[in-house]
Amino acid sequence: MKKIELHWRILLGLLLGAFFGFILSEIEGGKEWIQDWIKPFGTIFINSLKLIAIPLIFGSLIKGVSDLKDFSRLSKIGIRAFSFYLMTTVIAISIGLLIVNIINPGKSISESTRNQLVNEYISNTESISQTAKVQQDYGPLKMFEDIVPSNIFAAASDNRNMLQVIFFSILFGIGLILVSEAKAKPVKAFFDGFNEVIMKLVDILMLAAPFGVFALIATLIVESPNLDLFIALFWYALSIILGIFLLLGLYVVFASIISKRKPSVFIKGMAPAQLVAFSTSSSAATLPVTMERVTEHLGVDKEVSSFVLPIGATVNMDGTSLYQAVAAVFIAQAFGMHLSLEIQLGIILTATLASIGAAAVPGAGMITLIIVLAQAGIPEAGLALIFAVDRPLDMLRTVANVTGDAFCAVVVAKSIGKLGNPKIQEWDDNYIPS
Ligand code: ASP
Repeated sequence: MKKIELHWRILLGLLLGAFFGFILSEIEGGKEWIQDWIKPFGTIFINSLKLIAIPLIFGSLIKGVSDLKDFSRLSKIGIRAFSFYLMTTVIAISIGLLIVNIINPGKSISESTRNQLVNEYISNTESISQTAKVQQDYGPLKMFEDIVPSNIFAAASDNRNMLQVIFFSILFGIGLILVSEAKAKPVKAFFDGFNEVIMKLVDILMLAAPFGVFALIATLIVESPNLDLFIALFWYALSIILGIFLLLGLYVVFASIISKRKPSVFIKGMAPAQLVAFSTSSSAATLPVTMERVTEHLGVDKEVSSFVLPIGATVNMDGTSLYQAVAAVFIAQAFGMHLSLEIQLGIILTATLASIGAAAVPGAGMITLIIVLAQAGIPEAGLALIFAVDRPLDMLRTVANVTGDAFCAVVVAKSIGKLGNPKIQEWDDNYIPS
């Protein structure tokens, strides 16, 4: 029997999970049953992914950097990666602003709906404002200060400190380049093997992905808030959905033009990672899968992917930045405010910074959205307007975030001659050599 490809299996898990969730939410006691018997499997799946994220960064970055042999290569990859991160983020925000200004979703919200939403969700947004306030009070260099940990074990004990772990790993890799070959050899060999083991773990975990995704989606459906609010926020949600799909389309088109391959290579290569991103709403949790897909299925050399992907997962969030631009303008419109061109240009800058500052975990984009709102003089209470539909939109923006990282990895790899034939050539006949 022909084996069903992984992305189809995960998609099936997702659809069955949604179906099962809908059915059980209609049955009395169904929600509790899912929470008792299905939800734990979803939690186990996410935890296992998170479990290997930090070891993966350690292993792959140390190996990746030490393989570079000299610093000029490191800075070449670094400069290109950061330029692409920035470029794609600004493009994403511009797409968001364009769409929100065409659809004008905030204008379709009546005053009574607005008041109802604010009343219902204002308490939920208070803790978000608190967290954001703390961030807003930081000095301008706080971001850099935070990257350097004082204790690597403490840093590695919290997945939110990914940038600190990245920093240490790069430093360690640089140290490895500088010591003598005799001393470096066994250390490199260790991390080489370590990497292989972690990648194997990702393969094993992927076997469980359809079941994990089933459990996550079924739980999400039974725990989601009432559907009426979705309808009130239809145009807002649609603006973001359109923007994200446009962005995803652009990635596919440009990835295939730049790599001279059929679009299906990028689509099939990334589909499992996208589905995991959709189900977990976390770029950090998806990182092991993204890494495996990009290196083994898209043919990006580890030298590039080990550097571009972990950093991209934490700082390059195109979906989040697009969402923040749309959300800010939507809230302003709903409150009857007019945003001048100047303010909207300011949003490009603040949404870029806010998306860089957002952690790669569920709901993080909504916290740093406050920075965008504050800069543009939009009422913070507006967060209550979008709270009800944030989770599904978070799922989508995480897909764009992860795909954007993979896209940057492909482009950077191609630009330095490090995009080869995928190790796993499940679409051999699709490859058009340049
Ligand atoms: N959940 C997103 C991510 O992990 C961040 C966000 O909330 O926008 O990429």
